[in-house]
Amino acid sequence: MPLLYLLLFSLLTMGLVFWIPKYRLRRAVRQPFPGNYSRILRRNIPAYARMPTHLQLQLKRLIKQFLHEKKFIGCDGFRINDEVRVTIAGKACMLLLNRPASVFPDLKLVLVYPSAFIAPRTELGAGGIVTHANQTLSGESWSDGRVILAWDHVQQRNTDFIDGHNVVLHEFAHQLDSETGAPNGAPQLMSKEKYQRWSAVMMHEFRKLQEAAAYHMESAMDYYGATNPAEFFAVATETFFEKSWQMAEFHPALFAELREYYRVDPREWH
Ligand SMILES: [Zn+2]
Repeated sequence: MPLLYLLLFSLLTMGLVFWIPKYRLRRAVRQPFPGNYSRILRRNIPAYARMPTHLQLQLKRLIKQFLHEKKFIGCDGFRINDEVRVTIAGKACMLLLNRPASVFPDLKLVLVYPSAFIAPRTELGAGGIVTHANQTLSGESWSDGRVILAWDHVQQRNTDFIDGHNVVLHEFAHQLDSETGAPNGAPQLMSKEKYQRWSAVMMHEFRKLQEAAAYHMESAMDYYGATNPAEFFAVATETFFEKSWQMAEFHPALFAELREYYRVDPREWH
């Protein structure tokens, strides 16, 4: 008999462990979207005001889930407030519109510095020589569940949303890329055929950007995307959302791949 009670108690505890977080999430998402959050979105994400209503509603739901699940930490004395949380969550969740994906399931922490931060780097060079260097960064994404951002860089680009640079879109594209393991420029796709087509289009466009960077030719995309396939996907994501008309005109195959993956056409709100 005591064994039966113990078994029932264990089952009940396990059930509660799974049920309570889901219940809390549902409750958080059901809460009305605060009026000051909407004002922050209109002020800091101009594209939001031009989006169709169904996408605005989706974005607000995703933001509520993001804010419920992720913890924000201010670094170097930076104070986290609603403006910081809603702006970062809003930009990040634009990558999830119309997609059945969960909200960056591996991400736990968003660390925010007031401005560009110094990150120590260790590199293994030829002959096994290890070099240490400090790099100044505006953002960084880690597959262990962290994204690090410099608030002045997040803010700097708020008003235009057309210059092709967006550190939040960039770092959260890396998060999507990491969901399949090590970031390699290929996020989760639905079939083998899609991976094959994705790989062919991305490699072709990546080489084109490498060539443009080597010969200083004009490109809709930032040369930084020529660093490696993971950076290419992150930079292509920034360009897709911010310079969608140019990408559609000069890189139609790349635009089509990203439109299929992100399931939105940002030209509608430019
Ligand atoms: Zn990057």
